[in-house]
Amino acid sequence: MARFYVTTPIYYVNDAPHIGHAYTTVTADALARWHRLLGEEVFFLTGTDEHGLKVQRAAEASGRTPREHADITSRRYREVWASLDIAYDDFIRTTEPRHYRTTEQLMQAAYDNGWIELRHYEGLYCVSCEAYYTEAELVDGGLCPIHRTPVELFQEENYFFKLSAFEDRLLEWYDRYPGAVTPEGKRNEAIGLIRGGLRDISISRTSISWGVPVPWDRAHVFYVWYDALINYATAAGYGSDPDRFARWWPAVHHLIGKDILRFHCVYWPALLMAAGIDPPARIAVHGFLLVGGEKMSKTALNQIAPGDLIPTFGVDGVRYHFLRDQAFGPDGDFSYEAMVARYNADLANNLGNLLARVSTVVERKCGGVGPAPNPASKLGASAEAVYEAAAAGWARIAPSEALEATWRLVRDANAALEAAEPWKAEPGPAVDEVLGDALEVLRIVALLASPALSRASQEIWQRIGLPGRVEDQRLPGAAAWGGYPGGLAVRRGEPLFPRIRD
Ligand SMILES: [Zn+2]
Repeated sequence: MARFYVTTPIYYVNDAPHIGHAYTTVTADALARWHRLLGEEVFFLTGTDEHGLKVQRAAEASGRTPREHADITSRRYREVWASLDIAYDDFIRTTEPRHYRTTEQLMQAAYDNGWIELRHYEGLYCVSCEAYYTEAELVDGGLCPIHRTPVELFQEENYFFKLSAFEDRLLEWYDRYPGAVTPEGKRNEAIGLIRGGLRDISISRTSISWGVPVPWDRAHVFYVWYDALINYATAAGYGSDPDRFARWWPAVHHLIGKDILRFHCVYWPALLMAAGIDPPARIAVHGFLLVGGEKMSKTALNQIAPGDLIPTFGVDGVRYHFLRDQAFGPDGDFSYEAMVARYNADLANNLGNLLARVSTVVERKCGGVGPAPNPASKLGASAEAVYEAAAAGWARIAPSEALEATWRLVRDANAALEAAEPWKAEPGPAVDEVLGDALEVLRIVALLASPALSRASQEIWQRIGLPGRVEDQRLPGAAAWGGYPGGLAVRRGEPLFPRIRD
């Protein structure tokens, strides 16, 4: 059986969940739903990143232990994901014992293979970034280039990962797997970083205690970033369940933002190689979700919480926006006006209107019983082409293209209804045929849009009289034209997507 393992980055517990996190997570959730429809065995992982000095200090400031602090902040993510119908299979927290075990074993393997060694290190450290900077990288007379706050001089004995020894192997890997990092521009960026020369990297700290202890030297903890990357292996069973790990690894799809490209596309494959593990099959890199042309940040006060949007747009409207309006890859600009326009055009006017019209006319002309579609309908050919395009879009991790294709079928069905005007015609075979075709389109669209519309899809399914659950259908068979049996009770209901005043 085909398998699909998809991950989001684990989110830093100190950050408040915002629509940037939601964008990645909704995408992963929709991909997982699509692959489940294909009948594949799916494993969808998300979680929270809970170590590091920032967490330790935030906990101290609030009079809590780091663990208590992380318990509270991690919960916020699970609450947001529940509110967006995110159906993950596993939520990992890096403070869990299973993750300590895997991190220790994976790092021990790299150490035993000779790729990690102790060195003296002194550098300028930004606590907010959890990263060292060189003088040249600082701005405005010594401030962190990201946070514009002072850096601190840290001196310590660190364990170093001999990343510089992996340049050739990484380039060979990129050569052998041209589709491993997408899109092409991000792949080239990663290759550029490697060709530019890699320095060995410090992977442990003695100055902080909130982290996974280095198993061969307990005075150290692993630097938060390296323990964080390993979460993907922990959840797949590395070090605890070898059979499970062999099933899920390396066929993993990481979805990441471009700000963590270096960690995922350079450090992570090298670290895996050092431990004798294959690098991930796929790293899909997306751009930033900008607000008013700027990256969301606490300091710019332009963070939008997903929960702010749900009352207006509904869960489906919010999910649909991220998947349809934001192309996965380039930077996207979030705008409330564009979100309203898309909702009204695609959901209220196109899909919502199709359902409302069909159910109304079936009630008036067919006594509320949905007729069967015409097996030779022109819409059947359209549905077939739409399925091919939608399936290709989901496979490419291009949900916006998949949904754009799906909505072509909605528009074709609306156009066919407008041409035939069954609401003006006398009941009879001609009216039955055009309504049967429209019901069949609604069935297929409910199916193909279900990765995005987690609630409305099931509602459409039920209103046109179909039994069972959309998510239990199996593609491609279920998308074939002619599946609507006819003779089912069609129910008219409240508008599925009430129009939003703009
Ligand atoms: Zn910083």
